[in-house]
Amino acid sequence: MKKIFVSLSPIILFVLLINQCASTPAQKINALPQELQAPVSVSFLHWNDFHSANIPYTSNWGYTKGLQIGGYATLAGYLDSLKLLYSGAIVLNAGDDFQGSPISALTKGMSQIRILNEIKPTAFTIGNHEFDYGKDNLQKAVNAADFAVLSCNLFDSTKMSLFVLPYTIVESNGARIGIVGLIMEDLKSTVLPGNMDKMSVQDPAKSIMKYVEEIRDKTDVIVVLSHNGFREDSLLATKLSEVDAIFGGHSHTRLKQPVPVNNILVCQAGSNGQFLGHLRTTIDKQSKSFVEYKYELTETVVKNIKPSAGVARIVDSLEANITIEMDRVIGELKTPWVRNSQGESNIGDWINDVTREYFKADIAFQNSGGIRKGLNAGPIKVRDIWEISPFDNTIVLVTVSGEQLVRILEWRIKNPRDLLQQSGIRRVYDMSAKIMVDATVNGEAIVPQKQYTIATNNYIVGHIDRFFGLSESDVIIKDTGIVGRDILLKAAEEQRVINSNTDGRLIIQNQ
Ligand SMILES: [Zn+2]
Repeated sequence: MKKIFVSLSPIILFVLLINQCASTPAQKINALPQELQAPVSVSFLHWNDFHSANIPYTSNWGYTKGLQIGGYATLAGYLDSLKLLYSGAIVLNAGDDFQGSPISALTKGMSQIRILNEIKPTAFTIGNHEFDYGKDNLQKAVNAADFAVLSCNLFDSTKMSLFVLPYTIVESNGARIGIVGLIMEDLKSTVLPGNMDKMSVQDPAKSIMKYVEEIRDKTDVIVVLSHNGFREDSLLATKLSEVDAIFGGHSHTRLKQPVPVNNILVCQAGSNGQFLGHLRTTIDKQSKSFVEYKYELTETVVKNIKPSAGVARIVDSLEANITIEMDRVIGELKTPWVRNSQGESNIGDWINDVTREYFKADIAFQNSGGIRKGLNAGPIKVRDIWEISPFDNTIVLVTVSGEQLVRILEWRIKNPRDLLQQSGIRRVYDMSAKIMVDATVNGEAIVPQKQYTIATNNYIVGHIDRFFGLSESDVIIKDTGIVGRDILLKAAEEQRVINSNTDGRLIIQNQ
């Protein structure tokens, strides 16, 4: 800092005089030697894990309880007013904008791209849920984006290059800001393998440092825009140098203030558009660092802001389109789907068959209570599938031993509440004797030492003690992040004509 006050040498005076004739202030700043430049103020506005919560919703906790919060027009309204107050503000979205509301599912995330094209963030980093509608769809979304989509460690071996740009450099109030995108290392465990075909994730710290070296001479500060989770970002910060802040996402962590780790400010702003983070910094270009900062985490209360008219128009038109999409006919049902909470049902068989097939699991289970309606023979509309499966439950893969599987099946005799519909398995119960008469998996006897994969929903796994008589630590659990309904929609559309009949896979005697 003290070098700012060095005496002016004749050469510097000459530079200053020349610069007085320069046409724009920006040129003046560029031409000044660094030691003569005053620190500059740069604001960073950031959010993460928006999950297509495009419409305001009611807060159910904290001081905003009962108030309308969030929605993209509201968030954009906050952005607009803060950008007016803090000119040159850098606007950052740390990923997982897709998945969470019908419009995202119906448009395969394109709703979010349309909205973000209006907001025009300075940069966006890809999150795991951006893969929910497949890699090709994500590629289309990236192509349609009017803003920088970044990820420095997401490698596409079909292109033999990174999937998107690793970084961008922008200028704000005379400071050059490098923004490096990052995705979590264990992406594969949260994305269906088919959705990230020929993609791999490279080491986060090494990838970031590779690009830090590339851009250090062209930037005054470097920040990481990370979809990696708060704990992982904090660990990552210990392995980095020359990075000044990490704007994170994925763990939905609400940080009222940044957490400094290894001189790096780790930030994250909750989820679902409930908060907007604002890091106001003073940058010293000589030491290439923040010399001061202030931080505010603002809750996006609807009544406190003028919503963005442009974003509101897009959100409204998207919602109007839902009506058209919901009425779209995707298939024809030949036999009525009839629910049955006391035994096998053809709708339960169909749901489990398509789910098991999709995940190539050995078995599928769906609780009868989660099937919310039957359907008459005739056209199947998108709306019907939404009404049959209105919950955004994700499919979870549970790996059990044959011995555990037998225990689950026997547990169900004594704890029959919310009967499990099934696929891949045949079981016969005698309810008066309270015994399992027979059980086979895909026509074969259950082998105690063998591993079996069960595709089921996160509601059942969330109540695994009740449904399976096991605890989570007894088994291997992997949440695919895929909403069960999306699989049903896809299957109905592919099959076109559906003729579903029961086949005696679940026999309950002496009920
Ligand atoms: Zn995530």
